[in-house]
Amino acid sequence: MSDSIFTKIKNKEIPGNIVHEDDICFAIEDINPQAPVHVLIIPHKEIDKVSNASVEDISILGHLIYVSKKIAAKYNLNDNYRLTINNGAEAGQSVFHIHVHLLGGRSLNWPPG
Ligand code: 5GP
Repeated sequence: MSDSIFTKIKNKEIPGNIVHEDDICFAIEDINPQAPVHVLIIPHKEIDKVSNASVEDISILGHLIYVSKKIAAKYNLNDNYRLTINNGAEAGQSVFHIHVHLLGGRSLNWPPG
């Protein structure tokens, strides 16, 4: 299977702004930001979606959320931000490599569309 668009950004095959990287995940700024801060937190492992994750992926999934707080602090979001994971095309997922959206820097409405 070919690399996902996110892996290609990590590998610098296509341009992108990488704002975090560690052993388990990396983070990039979204190309089409929906808020002043819109970062995608992505595991190195190419799991396509949450509903296909396995028990071995638990620590990876937890790590994405833990790292989000460090990135939120880096962007001075003052503990006010939203984490979103779209699972499946009908739920808005367009890139099939799990990613957590970190959105902040403005007031966010609920429910989302
Ligand atoms: P999804 O719709 O799968 O939940 O989120 C995919 C996100 O990836 C979207 O917010 C979209 O703007 C972003 N995205 C798609 N292609 C690229 C790209 O080439 N570079 C970056 N930085 N973000 C991308």
